[in-house]
Amino acid sequence: MRTLTLRLKKGIRQLKDVLTGRTQITNKLKFYLMIGSVMSVHVFLLCIFYTFHVWPMFLFNICSIITYLTCFNLINRGSKYYLSVYFITFLEVILHSFAACLVLGWQYGFAQYIIAIIPVGFYICYMLDINRRKIKIAILLAVISMFAFFLCKILSFYREPLIVLDNMILELSLYIFNACCTFIFLILFTLVFVFEIRLSSNQLQHQNAILDKLASTDPLTGLYNRRSMDVFLSQAIESDTGFALIMCDIDDFKKVNDTYGHDFGDVVLKGVAKITTEQVREKGYVCRWGGEEILILLNNASEESSYRIAENIRRNVANSVFDLNEKWIHCSLTLGIALHQKREAVEETITRADYNLYRGKRSGKNAVVL
Ligand code: GH3
Ligand code: MG
Ligand code: MG
Repeated sequence: MRTLTLRLKKGIRQLKDVLTGRTQITNKLKFYLMIGSVMSVHVFLLCIFYTFHVWPMFLFNICSIITYLTCFNLINRGSKYYLSVYFITFLEVILHSFAACLVLGWQYGFAQYIIAIIPVGFYICYMLDINRRKIKIAILLAVISMFAFFLCKILSFYREPLIVLDNMILELSLYIFNACCTFIFLILFTLVFVFEIRLSSNQLQHQNAILDKLASTDPLTGLYNRRSMDVFLSQAIESDTGFALIMCDIDDFKKVNDTYGHDFGDVVLKGVAKITTEQVREKGYVCRWGGEEILILLNNASEESSYRIAENIRRNVANSVFDLNEKWIHCSLTLGIALHQKREAVEETITRADYNLYRGKRSGKNAVVL
C-alpha cells in the first residue's frame, strides 16, 4: 500500500512537471496514463454492474482490472513489454465490447470503444520505434477492429441480450458515458499526436540550425569557413552594390608556434579572430580563409571606410597582449585591401587583396595596404 501511494505521488509529480513544460513526457508515463485511464473506466463500470446486478459483466470487469494491474507491472519491467501491453489492451477492449453486447445489447454503446483504440495503435507505432512492420501491425489491428465492431452489431442483431435491465435512464446514461469516453480518447490521442509532431519538428529545426552552424563555421575561431564565404561572395557579386575585400595574415606566426607552441598559436588566432569580428560586426563577413589568413568582405564599402576598418583591426591587434599559462606576447597583422571593380571576377579581387597583403609584408609587416 505504501509503495502504491509513493508511486502515485511520483506519478502526480511527473504529471505536474509535464504540464508545466519542465520535462518531456516519457513513454513509460504515457503508458501509465493510458492504462490508468482505461482501468478507471473499468472501475467505474464495475460499480455500475455491481449496482444493477449485471454479474457476468461484473466478473468480466474484475478480470479486466486484474489484467490492467498486470499491465502496470509489465510497463515497470521495461520498454520491451510496451507493445505487449498494447496488444493486451487491444484484446481486452474487443472482448469487453463483445461481452457487453452479448450480455446487455448493442444499445449501451460499448462497441464504441473498439473505434477509440484504432488511433491508439497508430500512435503507439509512432511513439515506439516506427518501422514498416509495426505500421503494418497497426493497420492490421485497425482492420480487425472494424470487423469486430460489425460483428458486435451482427451478434446483438441476431441474439437477444442475456440480461434485460428495462431501465431507459440507465441505458441512455451508459450510452452517453461510453460515447463520452470514446470521444475523449479520440480527442486526447489526436491532440497528443499533433503536439508530438510539432515538438519533433521544432527539435529537428533546432538540430538543423546547429548543423548549419557547424557546417558554416570554423570550429577553432568561430569565424565563417571558406564554403560560407563563397556563398557571401556570390551574393555580393549578384547584389552589385560594390564591396571590398581585406586579406589579413598574422605576422611571423610560424615563430609564435615554434617558440611558444601550437596551443599558444591557437590562442593568438582566436584573439585576432575576435578583434576582427568586433571591428566588422554587421558591416560584412569575416572568414578563416586559410591557416592564419582571414578574409573580410565589407558590403557597400568605400576606400575610406574599408581602410578605416582595416587600420582599426591592425591597431587593435598590435596593441593587444595574448597570454597563455603566464606567458604573454604581442603580435601584429598585415592587411591588403582591394575594392571590387565592376564586371571583375571575384577571384581577381581576391588576388589583388592578396597582392596588397604581399606588398605590406615586403614593406615591413604590421601594415595596411590599399
Ligand atoms: P609571415 O609574417 O610572412 O606571414 O610569416 P609566417 O610565419 O606567419 O608565415 P605563414 O603565414 O606562412 O605561416 C603560417 C603558419 O600558420 C604555419 C602554420 O604552422 C600556422 N598555422 C596554420 N593554421 C594554424 C592553426 O590552426 N593553429 C596554429 N597554432 N597554427 C597554425
Ligand atoms: Mg600565412
Ligand atoms: Mg603569417
